[in-house]
Amino acid sequence: MRIIVGGIRHETNTFSTLHTGIEDFQIKRGSEILSEEPWLDFREVEWAPTLLAYAFPHGLVEERAYLSLKSELINCIDASLPADGVLLDLHGAMEVEGIGSGEVDLVKSIREIVGVNTPTAVSLDLHGNISHELAEKTDVLTGFRTAPHVDSTQTKVRALMHLMECIKKGLKPLNIIVKLPMILPGEFAVTDMEPARSLYGRLYEIEHVNGIIDTSLFIGCAWSDTPNTSLSVVVVAGGREYGEKARNMARSLAREIWARRREFAPEVTPLPVDEAIEAALRSRDKPVLISDTGDNVTAGGAGDTVVLLEKLLQAEAANALVDGIVDPEAVFMSAQAGKGARVSLDLGGKLDRLNSHPLSVEGIVTYVDYPKLAVLRVDGVEVIVTSKRRVLTTLKEFEEAGVNPLKKKIIVVKVGYLFSDLRQIAKKNIWALTPGFTSLQIEKLPYTRVKRPIYPLDEEFEYYES
Ligand SMILES: [Zn+2]
Repeated sequence: MRIIVGGIRHETNTFSTLHTGIEDFQIKRGSEILSEEPWLDFREVEWAPTLLAYAFPHGLVEERAYLSLKSELINCIDASLPADGVLLDLHGAMEVEGIGSGEVDLVKSIREIVGVNTPTAVSLDLHGNISHELAEKTDVLTGFRTAPHVDSTQTKVRALMHLMECIKKGLKPLNIIVKLPMILPGEFAVTDMEPARSLYGRLYEIEHVNGIIDTSLFIGCAWSDTPNTSLSVVVVAGGREYGEKARNMARSLAREIWARRREFAPEVTPLPVDEAIEAALRSRDKPVLISDTGDNVTAGGAGDTVVLLEKLLQAEAANALVDGIVDPEAVFMSAQAGKGARVSLDLGGKLDRLNSHPLSVEGIVTYVDYPKLAVLRVDGVEVIVTSKRRVLTTLKEFEEAGVNPLKKKIIVVKVGYLFSDLRQIAKKNIWALTPGFTSLQIEKLPYTRVKRPIYPLDEEFEYYES
């Protein structure tokens, strides 16, 4: 069987004042896509790889960037026809300037060229804001079941297995979607904690029911303010005859989630900035990792606010590390000055001007890997300054930057929940309620487009499904 594979993946933070341009996307073409996932293990498939583009979570996608990726993808798909099926790798929370949902726009155009009789299966991130149109214009939707995400490959393989089954058996599946009137920051739904743990556990029960192909629970992306932003349950019926059954199951799971809505909470109770710094200074466990939750780069934070750095310097903290501040200009100046040199510069606060400001610092350059990063020592605080929006999350990356995190007392990280090696490094984790594009205090964000009423922005209202 011949299967077309490709996609465009982006998690858009619409509260960010920044835009995602074409230069932010990593683009793979043709056979490069096939080595991304274990696709070549499926020997019965004749692959037609097209284009796969991915950008780190960030602000609204520029229309021009999206349209150029879309037209290349659509042309490749067109040139790959005829095919037995289409496998798409999408996120579910991509918002495009002037267009709206990138996923909806894309699947509509794909359906126009492949027709309704070529099944399309889509793998999605559980932080996707899934819409009715996305469900209608595709045949199988399936989402990750873990946050932090460790089942991305498994989900994509599951989408392929469903697609192959549809092709072999001639199935005409139906995506049944129930949207709940609630939104949650991703940090409130870590899947090995309650209530997410048992709610995700229900998916395995539902998908074993006769006539049901797959079930997903999408937490959605609360930092993407769109009419589709909400939690959703998707149950995929194996055919129209199972549609009613699938709807009942989706409804019942949605009710269960709604009933437990107040149980969703972050794994660590967030503290106001000053209290977070005090608690870190007092802690006997080290290293203490302070999550800079408002400037979480993995959810679209700018990555350059200096709020916690400034507080650490004011408190004369010793043996501390900030991972990291995005500032290509500061990396350049540090590289020019060279290792061991003393530099004075205005650090950070150039991208997120709403919540931060550049901080004048004087420090010693302790490490340079130009153009990637530089490390500065400012009094008792080492700062990893990067050219691109990123955080170091593995011991190997820290080692490459000449920093030993295990020896530090306090480490500020621009993430929310800890993942990768950060979990092992942390002897204690404190969450700081910092300002930024990924503020955990979503009630205070300037929402204008989400469907109201919605929990927790609105409190007293009758549950409804949409
Ligand atoms: Zn995600």
